[in-house]
Amino acid sequence: MPLLVTGTIGIDTVHTPTANAEEVSGGSCAYFAAAAAFHHSPIRIVGAVGGDWPEGHAHLLESIDGLCLEGLERRSESKTFAWGGRYFDNMNQRETLFTELGVLEEAPPEVPASYADSRLIFLANSHPSVQLDLLNKFPNRKLAVADTMDLWINIARDELLALFKEIDGLIINDSEATQLTDITNPITAARAIIEMGPSFVIVKKGEHGAVLVHADGIAALPAFPLEEEQVVDPTGAGDSFAGGFMGYVAAKGTMDFSTMQTGIAWGTVTASFTLGSFGLDGLVATSREALETRMQEFRQIARI
Ligand code: AMP
Repeated sequence: MPLLVTGTIGIDTVHTPTANAEEVSGGSCAYFAAAAAFHHSPIRIVGAVGGDWPEGHAHLLESIDGLCLEGLERRSESKTFAWGGRYFDNMNQRETLFTELGVLEEAPPEVPASYADSRLIFLANSHPSVQLDLLNKFPNRKLAVADTMDLWINIARDELLALFKEIDGLIINDSEATQLTDITNPITAARAIIEMGPSFVIVKKGEHGAVLVHADGIAALPAFPLEEEQVVDPTGAGDSFAGGFMGYVAAKGTMDFSTMQTGIAWGTVTASFTLGSFGLDGLVATSREALETRMQEFRQIARI
C-alpha cells in the first residue's frame, strides 16, 4: 500500500555543545521519508523547495531507494524552508534559533494524479492548514497520522484542533503534549488529546522512549540506549521514529494494536541511526542489515 507524506524539506543549521553544522539537509518530510523507505516502498513525497535548495541535498534524497519525488515541487523564485536550532548540554532539550517558512507561506504543493490511490497518509510537521488541505484530497484513506510542533501549537491552534478531528493518530513529543493540554503526565495528556479527535496518540519522550495510548491498550518502549559519543545530533529523530513506525505499518498492511506496538520498536531503532550524524547522513549511510541487527539487539534489551 503506497504511503504518502507531506511536510517540510528544509535547510537546517544545528549547534550542539560540541559541534556545529551549517545548512544540512533536513525537514520533517525528508527525515520521515528516508526512515520509512527502509521498511516500505513507495514512499510518495508531497513538498516544495525553493531555488536555493542545494544540489547536494537533492542528490541525497534522489539516492534513497523507494522514494517517489514526483510530488516534490521546485519553485525557482521561492526560498526553501530553513530552520536553526541549538541543543543544551544534555542534548535532550533544544531551542529554535530561527524558522524561515519560505515556501510554506505560499500555496501548498500540488498532489500528482499518480498519487491518487494513496491510502496511508502521514502529515509530517508543517502548518496545520497545509496538513488539512492535503488530507481533504484523500477521502478514501485507510489511515491518517500527523505530527506537530510547538510553533504550530502557538500560532495555529485552531487549525490544529480542526485537523485533530480528521486524523486517526497523532505522534507528538512530551513537551508538546503538555503545551497542548496543560497536563504533564504523558498518558493523561494523550487521553486528553484523544478527546480532541484522534483514536490513538504516541507520545515521544526522547531518550526515555515512547508510549502508545490506544483504545485497545497502552504500549511503552524505552529508547535504544546509545553511548554519549553516539549522540551527535538529535534533529529529525522524531520524524525518523514516525517514518520507521509508519513504514512498518504500511508494509504489514494492518493497523491493529499489536502491529502498532511492533511499529514503535522499528521506529525507535530507525531513529537511533539519525542521532549518529548531522542531517540525513546517519540514515543514508545505514543499511537494512544494520537496521535488522540493531532491532535484534533492541529485542534483547527491551525483552520484546
Ligand atoms: P525533530 O527533531 O524530529 O523535531 O525534527 C526537526 C526537523 O523538523 C528539522 O529538520 C527541521 O527542518 C524541521 N522543522 C523544524 N521546525 C519545523 C516546523 N515548525 N514545521 C515543520 N518542520 C520543522
